[in-house]
Amino acid sequence: MDMAFVQLPRQLKTLRRRFLPSMASLGPLRHSSGFTMELGTEQKEIQELARKFTREEIIPKAPHHDRTGEYPWDIIKKAHSLGLMNSLIPQEVGGLQLSIFDSCLITEELTYGCAGIGLAIKGTELGQMPVIAYGNKEQKKKYLSRLVEEPILAAYCLTEPSAGSDVSGIKTRAEKKGDEYVINGQKMWITNGGLANWYYVLARTDPDPKAPSGGAFTAFIVDRDTPGLTPGRKEINMGQRCSDTRGITFEDVRVPKENVLIGEGEGFRVVMGSLNPTRCFVAAGSTGIAQRALDEATKYSLEREAFGVPIAAHQAIAFMLADMAINVETGRLAWMRAAHEMNMKSPKKAYYASIAKMLCC
Ligand SMILES: Cc1cc2nc3c(=O)[nH]c(=O)nc-3n(C[C@H](O)[C@H](O)[C@H](O)COP(=O)(O)OP(=O)(O)OC[C@H]3O[C@@H](n4cnc5c(N)ncnc54)[C@H](O)[C@@H]3O)c2cc1C
Repeated sequence: MDMAFVQLPRQLKTLRRRFLPSMASLGPLRHSSGFTMELGTEQKEIQELARKFTREEIIPKAPHHDRTGEYPWDIIKKAHSLGLMNSLIPQEVGGLQLSIFDSCLITEELTYGCAGIGLAIKGTELGQMPVIAYGNKEQKKKYLSRLVEEPILAAYCLTEPSAGSDVSGIKTRAEKKGDEYVINGQKMWITNGGLANWYYVLARTDPDPKAPSGGAFTAFIVDRDTPGLTPGRKEINMGQRCSDTRGITFEDVRVPKENVLIGEGEGFRVVMGSLNPTRCFVAAGSTGIAQRALDEATKYSLEREAFGVPIAAHQAIAFMLADMAINVETGRLAWMRAAHEMNMKSPKKAYYASIAKMLCC
């Protein structure tokens, strides 16, 4: 959709001529109004690379990984070498520093091939997000650069057996003892839980249950090999079966104060700030799954015949395909709008990210 030809009302043109003469340098009016949905050259290249990778590396192997639940390490390694994972890591520590929008383009392509493999590749970015957004120089260098160097993973530990959507209900405790914090508690449904090299962990530091959430929680980076940190068994997911989803127990896990993100009591801010981009990724990933479902359904309904014609020629099926196409296209528009607002750091980014996640999921 190219909105460049939308005409500005006459009054607006007059105002523009009167008050903004410097804007004349931007060229004729018809090129500065509205917006365009055309991807840039680099974005098309990124999309094409991810699409080719999905066709060649994911689609042929997806049935095996779905059947067995085997973690797709070989695919992860190839994705890593091509720059299709860790895409948001800043250039200062060796990353590509793609925008949220461009990284979502990759996500949509990967989940088209397999939701589980897509999550395995992109799930690590969830764990990285708080460190990218809120980590200091040393934390970024120590924890992000190693992800660029080798195909190793991060994980995001927020959810607990009794608290998911309700972040303020989190019970995992962190107590300051000297220069360390001691973490005790239980996390649940952690993607890459058994395979991560390090974890982002949210814990309550204010023991008063009535303390306002804004100051009651602290965000930590915790190394996998810290004594007392134990991943549980791999969960058998209903979908995304090869993704590694586990509970994690923290028993007197000692974390140096240098591993606190921003500072004590800032955990809620870190979570809320890092959830918005992840909503865009979930929305883009869901759109990839929906596009694949539409393509497979279309293909089948053109092959399968009933009453002498392909079933696509029956109105009941055609209506279903039309509804699917409408949902896929509006879902894509929603995630693109949300990711664009994220890129622009717009004050309405949470609004658009929530709409996109709700619609696309
Ligand atoms: C495959 C998989 C991977 C995951 N990976 C991770 C991960 O890497 N890290 C992590 O921290 N978590 C992860 N999760 C957990 C996920 O984020 C939570 O499941 C999610 O936040 C919902 O929490 P919950 O399961 O406790 O459900 P609840 O919060 O208990 O919600 C139960 C139901 O109540 C509804 N509900 C809740 N609050 C409201 C409300 N205010 N208004 C209306 N309805 C409401 C929900 O929509 C839902 O239908 C993963 C989950 C799965 C299934």
